[in-house]
Amino acid sequence: MRIALISEHASPLAALGGEDAGGQNTHVAELAAALADAGNDVRVYTRRDDPALPECVAVRPGVTVVHVPAGPAEQVPKDDLLPYMGAFGDWLAAAWGGDWRPDVAHAHFWMSGLATVSAAQQTGVPVVQTYHALGVVKRRHQGDKDTSPAQRIGYERAVGRAVDAVVSQCRDETAELLRMGVPANRIALIPSGVDHERFTPDGPAEPREPGRPRILSVGRFVERKGFLDLVRALPAVPGAECVIVGGVPGDPLAGRLRELAAELGVADRLRLVGAVKPGDMARWYRSADVLAATPWYEPFGLTPLEAMACGVPVVGTAVGGLRDTVVDGLTGDLVPPRDPRALGLALRRLLRDPVRRLAYGSAALDRARNCYPWSRAADQLSTLYARVSGVRDRETTGAVA
Ligand code: UDP
Repeated sequence: MRIALISEHASPLAALGGEDAGGQNTHVAELAAALADAGNDVRVYTRRDDPALPECVAVRPGVTVVHVPAGPAEQVPKDDLLPYMGAFGDWLAAAWGGDWRPDVAHAHFWMSGLATVSAAQQTGVPVVQTYHALGVVKRRHQGDKDTSPAQRIGYERAVGRAVDAVVSQCRDETAELLRMGVPANRIALIPSGVDHERFTPDGPAEPREPGRPRILSVGRFVERKGFLDLVRALPAVPGAECVIVGGVPGDPLAGRLRELAAELGVADRLRLVGAVKPGDMARWYRSADVLAATPWYEPFGLTPLEAMACGVPVVGTAVGGLRDTVVDGLTGDLVPPRDPRALGLALRRLLRDPVRRLAYGSAALDRARNCYPWSRAADQLSTLYARVSGVRDRETTGAVA
């Protein structure tokens, strides 16, 4: 099939760890690769945010990244991109009217959904939507601090009704989508995968101090990842070092984490590494005794799965995708979100119990390998794509199934 993946702000080619570059970039890059490996012709459309970018970049056989000129050719925060989605959609419609018309377009994030639905109205290409994050959930947790455009929630609902299918990444998201009014028969639960070539238990690891347990945490430096809760939990985990990967130089959250650690007397046990290249992430997971994933909410959460694929147990908050990926008491421990006391207790218990860590780690590896290979997600999506494009063909030709 010819498959268009639309990811307006999250390019598969971007550096990760900054405020707007993380899981969606990884997801789109790895999904494109898995679909191409299955024999599809994939084009990823993302906004041109640097004048030096060529229009097309062949990333690997079967995958081309296309830089769409919509808005200024410079970095713009994702929450400010809405005004350019009309131009993005018109550009897609014009491109799909030429010699490369996709059989299906799969939009990632609500703004890509708007651009794609607009292009689909002009071209008849069927549309699948993955939200990656939902405005209603963000508003519930962040209230006044939510910087999303005011129209987000309404537009997300409209996109959910306009597209042919919506992919949910976890059971929690399915419930949210149903509450948003997305018809149940249009929702397909297809979780992300993890790259089992990159994330393996064997291979080089970052050096560490002998005898000092290591808690690793990874993510974009946004408050909802709960890094402050993790630092608050540190006094309850004596002797352990806490290594946080992610963030960009000068990030205000880094300053707050350091101040808090100093107030709590744990500054010597907190290490902020900054952003790490995707290719180096496995080295950091392998160096850890446990991954602490502490979000307040999480649409899916790739980092717990990446750690599991490296045989590392997870202590995580019982939210969103973590409730599906981490099996409490088998591959890790789940604690309530924003509860440093419970987090500290769970981390201390696990770090003091090497047998439990080993058992969790091997069950985690098993689960990541068996339940979350990208090939499985790509298979399920291919079936969904075939279904929606078949439905659209029947609609346009007037044939009866
Ligand atoms: N990541 C990375 N370098 C960093 C920080 C994160 O490559 O310095 C990657 C990480 O390996 C994962 C993604 O960014 O693939 C984060 O995804 P997740 O779903 O955990 O969080 P999101 O960014 O979607 O909130």
